[in-house]
Amino acid sequence: MDQTLFLLIIIGILAIVLIIILWLFRKGKTVTGEARTEYIAGLNFLLADEKDKALEKLRSTVRMDTEFIDAYIKIGDILRSQGAADGAIKIHRDLLVRPNLSDNQRIAVNKALAKDYQAAKKFPQALQACDHILDVERGNAWAKDFQLAIFEEMGDWQSAYNVVRKNSKLPKDEKNIRLACYKVEQGRQSVALNQEHDARVHYREAIKLSPDCVQGFLELADSYMRDKRPSDALDALKNLIQKNPNFPELAFARLKHVLFDLGQFGEIEEVYRDLLKSNPQVVEAQLGLAEIYEKKGEIRHAVDVCNKALSYDPDRVDVKLMLVRLQSKLGRDERAADIASELAGQLLKDRNRYICNVCNYTNQDYFWHCPQCNSWNTAKRRV
Ligand SMILES: [Zn+2]
Repeated sequence: MDQTLFLLIIIGILAIVLIIILWLFRKGKTVTGEARTEYIAGLNFLLADEKDKALEKLRSTVRMDTEFIDAYIKIGDILRSQGAADGAIKIHRDLLVRPNLSDNQRIAVNKALAKDYQAAKKFPQALQACDHILDVERGNAWAKDFQLAIFEEMGDWQSAYNVVRKNSKLPKDEKNIRLACYKVEQGRQSVALNQEHDARVHYREAIKLSPDCVQGFLELADSYMRDKRPSDALDALKNLIQKNPNFPELAFARLKHVLFDLGQFGEIEEVYRDLLKSNPQVVEAQLGLAEIYEKKGEIRHAVDVCNKALSYDPDRVDVKLMLVRLQSKLGRDERAADIASELAGQLLKDRNRYICNVCNYTNQDYFWHCPQCNSWNTAKRRV
């Protein structure tokens, strides 16, 4: 009898333990389930851009389930987006202390952390967070791209150069122009430190990398001018005009100045003629030539050159203005008035001349690093 009682007691205890275990297990499950519901509600608020409500839901998620890493990541992300980068850093960095993070979670946390540090302008730490991603997954493309963006933001052009040279999957031409742009930026940093010689080394490298790097030639010429070496500046500009006739106005503006400095202003006619032989579409050279004819009093010659220029680019305001002047000098007032009124209509249009072919940013001045979308060398002439 005692044995039966003993057995019953044992069974009773086991049953109670089992019930407790089941209850605990069920409660745990329910909490996790509830946490997930809260998390999804948080995500929905996030999608609706209701960040404060999202934050509330995500905070209640992690109160229910302290292992809910994704919810913590999102809480930090929201804080960062609200300008509280330091708060975001604290939350994300605390997650890294946990010993049981999966590789994917470790990558996700470090991604968030890299963005936090970028927002806080703590660039070395942002780079380090990317390194930690690369420790987990060698060749992680996001981390490499992000490091490049950080180097650019820091103005660390040599590191940006190294990253693109080693890793970039850009097509060869695009890669070379990008590398050339970095060299130009390096040169400009040297100029800021009054190191003109070092600057020119960078500019020459830029030109060697890509003859499309207009800015490299121009900066090289400007640097020679600052060092009172106009004949070297002249060579750089002539080189630009021959190798890259796409933005001749940039070269000619400087060229006149350089030749004037050299006391060789007469030589400019020859420069224009040389260029027009190989590149008759370069309106800047036509215009320059017409100006010279006008000064010499060869007005009809000048008109011919202007008309030829308009056949390549019918909307050129400066050529038309010149024609108005030339026609009236010839006493053809009616013709001059026609051109003038056509011009007036045209001038009412947008005056921005260069457009980024990535984001459509426009500016009157030529740019090689788009201030809007940060693309390199995307300025095209607006048509
Ligand atoms: Zn752009």
